Amino acid sequence: LPIVCIIGRPNVGKSSLFNRILGRRAAVVSDRDGVTRDRHYQNAIYKGHEFTVVDTGGFLPDDSIDVLADSVRAQIFNAVNEADLVLFMVDIRVGITKLDQQFARLIRKLDKKVILVANKSELQGDRQESYEFLKLGFGQPRTVSALTGYACLSLLDEVVSVLPTPVRGERREERPVRFAILGRPNAGKSTLLNRLLNEDRAVVSDIPGTTRDSIDCDFVVDGQKFVVTDTAGLRKKARVEDEVEVFSNMRTLESIRRSDLSVLVVDCTRGMEIQDYRIITEIRKAGKGLVVVLNKWDILPNKNDKSFDHMVKELLEREPMLEFVPILSISAKEGQRVGRVIQAIQTVYANCRRVLGRDRVAESFANFLQEKAPPSHNGRVVMLTRACQIMVEPPVIDIETRTPELVDESYKRYLLKKFYDEFQLQGAPLRLNFDRKL
Ligand code: GDP
Repeated sequence: LPIVCIIGRPNVGKSSLFNRILGRRAAVVSDRDGVTRDRHYQNAIYKGHEFTVVDTGGFLPDDSIDVLADSVRAQIFNAVNEADLVLFMVDIRVGITKLDQQFARLIRKLDKKVILVANKSELQGDRQESYEFLKLGFGQPRTVSALTGYACLSLLDEVVSVLPTPVRGERREERPVRFAILGRPNAGKSTLLNRLLNEDRAVVSDIPGTTRDSIDCDFVVDGQKFVVTDTAGLRKKARVEDEVEVFSNMRTLESIRRSDLSVLVVDCTRGMEIQDYRIITEIRKAGKGLVVVLNKWDILPNKNDKSFDHMVKELLEREPMLEFVPILSISAKEGQRVGRVIQAIQTVYANCRRVLGRDRVAESFANFLQEKAPPSHNGRVVMLTRACQIMVEPPVIDIETRTPELVDESYKRYLLKKFYDEFQLQGAPLRLNFDRKL
């Protein structure tokens, strides 16, 4: 993806602009390439253009008032160097500082496309002050207010108009699909892992993970590479301590974070328990994909052709979000339907990174509203004016309304279901954000 780098001294409002661009959702973290990047890198989408936004604020110590430390300078240099476009932010109320000049010099060295952004232009009068910034050598600044949103949309329009069009698909397909196998002790995780690794598939290698004693395994199916994260505990077969294995919360969270999606293995003879539901919640919170497998189907007692539907229904009663998640019945031990797990993983992975066409989102949204209008709240009409996908991985759709606080919960659920069905997003952690104007 093309990279937009936001640069500027502390307090000019980099994070605010970053959040504006991402639709004010700083909390939505989607790690680019899993572990390799910190959370100052996020993917954004605007008018169908996907790009990565980098907030260099994280590299800057708050007290770097006048001079840039060499180490910081190097980090910023690298961030700017890999960017396709630089948003150089200054503060219109403060004017040019020494540090601004340092940044200007640093940026100029790299010969990048630069848009100078004069932030904090809340007031008309402020906007007239912007000529002073011509001295920095990047032309007339765009005056914006990240706080109020003033001129942020036209800035975004300009941003996407100068970004290079990404070569669709190319870089992405090389990336392996990373997934974690989670579940309670004895659910059959190791058995499933061994199945996946052995069944007609070349195990390429073990990759040492990033956390202590975690091991990632990779394998290839039909040319697609897969990485199973943190298999350390899973690969030790025939453990005697199986029964006393402790559910390690931290470890599970780390695994979720490092993967694109997780496969939750449930022993169908025991059903889901509190830990399983907790894992599902964590996966959703992390904005990652999910596949649920009901394992040991071979030994489910009194099985008939309704057993599966019954079991799924029970699960949904307890956790309604499972309606949007692929659920499979398998036998890891007998190798039954294990191939379907791989298919589901691929589908969910694709769903998580789906770019929904702008026009189709708008059109479908209009249909959803027509089919069922948002209920009014204490006599106040609730207007939803616009829907737009603002992020991929995880997919996030912004729904514009003047009164986000008045949107009925069951109506939110209705829209969520509609989007899931219409766009076939099963397994992806789709979020709808009800928000005032960007
Ligand atoms: P883990 O703790 O989740 O990794 O679970 P294991 O893979 O070690 O499996 C626990 C036990 O369940 C072992 O005795 C497996 O042989 C058994 N098991 C795993 N999957 C299946 C299955 O699909 N059917 C049956 N009948 N047993 C299974």
